[in-house]
Amino acid sequence: MTRLSKICVFCGSSTGNDTSITNAAEHLAHVFVEKEIALVYGAAKIGVMGIIAEAMLKKHGEVIGVIPQFLKKKEVVHLGLTELVTTQNMHERKLIMQEISDGFMVLPGGFGTLEECFEIITWLQLGLHTKPIGLLNTNGFYDDLLKLLETMVKRGFLKLENYELLLVDTEVEGLLQKMETFKAPQIPKWLKPERT
Ligand code: AMP
Repeated sequence: MTRLSKICVFCGSSTGNDTSITNAAEHLAHVFVEKEIALVYGAAKIGVMGIIAEAMLKKHGEVIGVIPQFLKKKEVVHLGLTELVTTQNMHERKLIMQEISDGFMVLPGGFGTLEECFEIITWLQLGLHTKPIGLLNTNGFYDDLLKLLETMVKRGFLKLENYELLLVDTEVEGLLQKMETFKAPQIPKWLKPERT
């Protein structure tokens, strides 16, 4: 079992209209504080992002925000975080988030959340990191996405072993447990750096 002391959460910059999702976000904050897990996230005070950060700070949890300069506006950025890292652009932000975190959790969100989820899983598929990635499927939010991934497997565009890299659970506790016991597969030979 691996102790995950910093987890990066990708989630909506909107709040949505399903209270089971906002409740799950608050519950996640509670679990993180209880287990002394620091939150790494996109530093916004809006949407599901803001709900988690605010709930964690209220309970004196550690919250590290990573935000590109162009998004660092008063209406968006949370200025009360434990630590705020400013990056030049979105690419540097993603790289820093990857480097400082021990694992990644994806909660309900929109395009930004999906982009972050699939980039971080592509990096795992390519052996660029070996950290666990968990999808929190609150109230069936990601059921249709998971169906699409199964279609990709059936039609030969996604290897079953790569599909299985994405850990899924409907509850934070269950997902955390799967992430803690995750073991990244061996990197395929053709992806290993060549020896000269
Ligand atoms: P979305 O799912 O489209 O709402 O985008 C949310 C994800 O994209 C978050 O995990 C953030 O990392 C990033 N993001 C999108 N909008 C913002 C914003 N206004 N401020 C900070 N990060 C954002």
